[in-house]
Amino acid sequence: MRVAIVGSGPSGLYAVRSLLESSTTVSIDVFDRLPAPYGLVRYGVAPDHPKMRTVIRVLRESFHDSNDVGFFGNVAFGRDLTHRDLRDHYHTVVYATGTQADRTLDIPGEDLAGSCSAREFVDWYCGHPDTADRDFDLHIGQVAVVGAGNVALDVARMLAKGYPEIATTDVPDRVLRALRTSEVTDIHVFARRGAAHAKYTPIELREMGKLVNADVLVRPDELVVDADGEARMAASRQVRQNVEMLRDWSSRTPEGRPRRVHLRFLRSPVRILGAQAVAGLVVERNEPGDDGRVVGTGERESVEAGLVLRAVGYRAHPLPDVQFDPVTSTVPHARGRVLDETGRPVPGDYVVGWAKRGPTGVIGTNKSDAAETVASILEDAPRLVPPPYQAREHLRLALARRGVRFTTWPGWLRLDAYERELGRAQARERVRVADRQLMLDVSDDATP
Ligand code: NAP
Repeated sequence: MRVAIVGSGPSGLYAVRSLLESSTTVSIDVFDRLPAPYGLVRYGVAPDHPKMRTVIRVLRESFHDSNDVGFFGNVAFGRDLTHRDLRDHYHTVVYATGTQADRTLDIPGEDLAGSCSAREFVDWYCGHPDTADRDFDLHIGQVAVVGAGNVALDVARMLAKGYPEIATTDVPDRVLRALRTSEVTDIHVFARRGAAHAKYTPIELREMGKLVNADVLVRPDELVVDADGEARMAASRQVRQNVEMLRDWSSRTPEGRPRRVHLRFLRSPVRILGAQAVAGLVVERNEPGDDGRVVGTGERESVEAGLVLRAVGYRAHPLPDVQFDPVTSTVPHARGRVLDETGRPVPGDYVVGWAKRGPTGVIGTNKSDAAETVASILEDAPRLVPPPYQAREHLRLALARRGVRFTTWPGWLRLDAYERELGRAQARERVRVADRQLMLDVSDDATP
């Protein structure tokens, strides 16, 4: 069976593994719009979390020579490759495209310079090719972060850490320079609900308490736990751990470290201040309502900020020729089988990861998620229609004829070695290359 996987992040590559582990003979091609593989493992996991990236060791095994697995990087579905192309070359197409866009706050001032999604900031420090020309001016005193999920903590932590803590990471050189000269002193992280409703996980929260360069400040009067919060604490150890940690911090005296992370609760953003660029954020105090909801009190406060990062979740874009549910921002499916507008499965089309279940869960969640989809594929396999063209070479030629400069697995290994070599000179494990052209040049199969 020939299988195309669109997206080389953890969900796509766990699907590859799951297919290889089955007793069916498979020939798989993995496509990615970026020249390098690994999706959010490379471009989402924070640079100071190298342990989380060790999953790469598992994911790359699929590309071992003994498996019939190809990689086509720098190939965008919908631009370089159509649904028709895929159906002409593969029995099965698995969409592992994740979420490409961000939720917005829809408040005045959101369009000001210096108001961005946390994703843009994450892309920047992870060396994403889409932000290779982007720079963040950190000669500002204060930053406001909106949201109480792990992404909010990631960006707050990266801003709070001192240069020595970042200097060993693999951030691109220009990011390291910006963080070295950062004048940020205060990072305000606003949760619209209470502490028992924060989405971040205790492991990530605990790290904030271990920052050598920053104090964590929590206000005791904001740690009100309502009835719904009490129920959540009783039901979940993680919620209890979060609230207990926050209570502990709220009773501590700050140690006078150079930076401060203010974890604020029951505060909704209502307006971003500034003329041309962001100057601050106005938040409204909320009171706990029913069922975990909050009610605005009308009482407002503003904080100065030269940068406002919204970390309020991701959403997906519809994929060309693939059904999309704009309400859940996912591809409608039944156990991974893509459904058409009448709710019937589209033969040969499948979905995994965030495109399937929305932007939730950790990297490992994708393993069971992919296994479910692969089980559906294997069940349907006897009924799948063979494609007219089954040779990988045929697709390679089609892409080449269109002038698509795609990268390959050996090309990625060259880029990987190149980044490690750059790192060696600075006693870092690697230095990310963000420039797409350079990524392509280094990955080029013609390069000796
Ligand atoms: P998330 O966990 O869904 O958190 C989004 C946050 O934004 C919530 O606190 C939400 O509050 C808040 N929010 C949404 N709309 C808002 C609005 N209009 N105004 C104010 N606040 C608003 O999303 P995420 O942080 O982007 O993370 C996505 C996924 O990646 C999660 O599964 C996360 O665990 C995972 N992740 C994991 C790691 C890690 O393991 N280290 C790192 C990064 C990301 P409400 O709850 O009130 O809606």
